[in-house]
Amino acid sequence: MKLVLASGNPGKQREFAALLAPLGIELLMQADLGVRSVEETGTTFEANALLKARHAALASGLPGLADDSGLEVDALDGRPGVYSARYAGPGASDQDNNALLLARLAAVPEGARGARYRCVLALVRTPDDPEPLLASGCWEGRIATRAAGGGGFGYDPLFIPAGHERTVAELSVALKNSSSHRAQALAALVARLGRVLPAGSAAAR
Ligand code: IMP
Repeated sequence: MKLVLASGNPGKQREFAALLAPLGIELLMQADLGVRSVEETGTTFEANALLKARHAALASGLPGLADDSGLEVDALDGRPGVYSARYAGPGASDQDNNALLLARLAAVPEGARGARYRCVLALVRTPDDPEPLLASGCWEGRIATRAAGGGGFGYDPLFIPAGHERTVAELSVALKNSSSHRAQALAALVARLGRVLPAGSAAAR
């Protein structure tokens, strides 16, 4: 089965490819098909995931898979949320975003630094699919007081998952790929894939 992934984020691409390969799903990157990113104008993870998946399907002619994800910090009333990628402004780097987050939490004590990664996945068979498949996942944790580790991407040097004392950027790729918000959402999505892409459909070949 071929799916086009509506993301230009290399970190996400690596994670999805690793998670989907064992299922026999060939993941094509939208950029490799000449599909440009669409502007994320939604105010919820669901709305953004859906608009990205529909755009990728329209531009590629293949079923479209998109994720919208982000970090919700309790002490910031859930921010940066859907604005995680551009928290420090348009075109912000991961380092910029992490520095801003640490600055905003400078006065917040250890016990009040709760946060979670949230991910919503959308899969559409066609651009106007009336029954898109949505699935979500959530990874609870807390924000460290300083960045640590070189793995992962985004806020991983600051995010300590519940049950751990190290940041995701210090923990193994295998742990992230089995426990993350994205892995949980994908597991929920895969459980329902049979209904969305019935065997023998053009998309399933
Ligand atoms: P999106 O491409 O609009 O979904 O932006 C998601 C943003 O949320 C990323 O650019 C990161 O800043 C953050 N994010 C989402 N998932 C992760 C993760 O697994 N690790 C670190 N940061 C993440």
